[in-house]
Amino acid sequence: MAGKSPGSAGSTQAGEGGRHATERGRKTLEGLSINLATTRQQWGFRDAVEGCLRHGIRAIAPWRDQLAAIGVAEAARIVRDEGLRVTGLCRGGFFPAADAAGRQAAIDDNHRAIEDAAALGADCLVLVTGGLPPGSRDLAGARTMVADGVAAILPLARAARVPLALEPLHPMYAADRSCLNTLAQALDLCDALDPARTGAIGIAFDVYHCWWDPQLEAQLLRAGPQRLLAHHICDWLVPTRDLLTDRGMMGDGVIDLKGVRRIVEAAGFSGPQEVEIFSAGNWWKKSGDEVLEVCVERFLELCRSGHAVASPP
Ligand code: ZN
Repeated sequence: MAGKSPGSAGSTQAGEGGRHATERGRKTLEGLSINLATTRQQWGFRDAVEGCLRHGIRAIAPWRDQLAAIGVAEAARIVRDEGLRVTGLCRGGFFPAADAAGRQAAIDDNHRAIEDAAALGADCLVLVTGGLPPGSRDLAGARTMVADGVAAILPLARAARVPLALEPLHPMYAADRSCLNTLAQALDLCDALDPARTGAIGIAFDVYHCWWDPQLEAQLLRAGPQRLLAHHICDWLVPTRDLLTDRGMMGDGVIDLKGVRRIVEAAGFSGPQEVEIFSAGNWWKKSGDEVLEVCVERFLELCRSGHAVASPP
């Protein structure tokens, strides 16, 4: 942003992007948030915010490394000055470790993440819980470590008014990223730690991880507005060529995004849909403005149920 006027995106398509930005500048897009991983290869925090604003997008979800690069205080100032909604901070979690010192280090790191989320006024802190400790085959033990870790950070999260959003990940990540793999499993943990459904803990529902779940509708309805804290979107490509970095743009895969959104809203969540696309072979190679332009088009065409978007509680 420094030294650059809005519209000089550093993109090779600045003229094209500028024209569309002018057309769109008249209206703020309701209901669309951009997870900044989607343009992480193109833009840091400051440029990503400027890019979103050019395309009429006023909700974002940054990652902690992006905050660290600019400084949390400066990121929070930009959020405040621009009046942005932060639909989540990515991410805390990764609780399992081989020894007690490792588990305590994870808890300490999560405490810092809660403070960062509070500074941003984020709707939630997204938790990717972690998988097996190195060398371990004890999946049940890892899941116990996750439950213990989340329980340990919940008091600070409550005090800071930062809801914790457990994000169940597709089971292909059970070993290395998340041994929390289904909506039912995540909601069971929420019920164990917060039986009163206070809103202090819930789930981040990502279509990429959960679209295949036969219990999708039942579990989203079970979650309800107290537990549904975030709705991440992208698409599942056939074939998927990389387990981590081959997510599709909405409309390029097989997920019924409108149908899923209808269930999410029936469950009581009408907050923004957050586009989160890791795409080393495709979208990370395009200009940030082109990515956002397609995000907006596909969102408007394929993802909305037709209902209004609610403000944060
Ligand atoms: Zn996600």
